[in-house]
Amino acid sequence: MLPEPALEAAPEPASDPAPTPAAERPRRCRAAPPCLLASRQARAEATVVRVRHVTIGGGAPPVVIAGPCSVESREQLLATAAAAAAAGAAMLRGGAYKPRTSPYDFQGLGRDGLRLLREASEASGLPVVTEVMSPEEVELVADHADMLQVGARNMQNFPLLRRLARCARPILLKRGVSATLAEWLLAAEYLLAGGNSQVALCERGIRTFDSEMRNTLDIAAVARVRELSHLPVLVDPSHATGRRSLVPAVSRAALAVGADGLLIEVHPDPDHALSDGPQSLTLEGFDELMRTLPGPRERPATGIRK
Ligand code: PEP
Ligand code: MN
Repeated sequence: MLPEPALEAAPEPASDPAPTPAAERPRRCRAAPPCLLASRQARAEATVVRVRHVTIGGGAPPVVIAGPCSVESREQLLATAAAAAAAGAAMLRGGAYKPRTSPYDFQGLGRDGLRLLREASEASGLPVVTEVMSPEEVELVADHADMLQVGARNMQNFPLLRRLARCARPILLKRGVSATLAEWLLAAEYLLAGGNSQVALCERGIRTFDSEMRNTLDIAAVARVRELSHLPVLVDPSHATGRRSLVPAVSRAALAVGADGLLIEVHPDPDHALSDGPQSLTLEGFDELMRTLPGPRERPATGIRK
């Protein structure tokens, strides 16, 4: 057993009109210099995130989370969930509240999308992860989903992070499009310090000078974050590349560098998808990918502890 990190109450905010007693303030790590609860100094052993029967991190076999970018219809979601389960995915994804760059683009089915996610989860047996964008929607989304996603655009939505810290659901925290590793881990810190230790990180590509790919997958960041932090790290090859043809190769690269799982967009008819069709695999393409991902014995050792 490793010793528990030495924790103390965070200092009282100077401007707090109604001071919170020390016992109720978020705890911070006492080891210096700056030591985060998310860091390996605070906790050497890997954090295992549990989403119902699914285990993420701590050397467990990589989880594959698959599903459409957006929930569009009952038929679309149920067909995708069944195919994802049959191909060996461990969890279902799908957006009901969509953070779209343009206000004229499809914004998601909202509450109806959440109900469909619940139905698809029950029909397929797959736990479901979906994005939540505002603190006011956390309770509703948590009533329908097994894991809540913080999207790249909301990585530094601090009221949302503070609310999610008090939510009894595991969190999938995506890296912001131009967030440094320190900023990403500090976003995770909001969750941990506020009381939610069930946090998995997700590298989904960052913005660079090149527009050939939608984003640039920061593959070294996956390995580096596993050195710095005990939290599991997933990779999203769909948003990282924006191109369906690259998803299999980038998925293999992610596993080779030690990712604890993959988040992959899959759609029964990507050419008519309401969002992110060009990066979505077909159901057949996903099945093919799952057949060709390397098994545990074929994956090279990374030399980084789990
Ligand atoms: C998504 O997962 O569909 C999504 C919007 O991802 P990101 O926040 O990484 O852009
Ligand atoms: Mn998407």
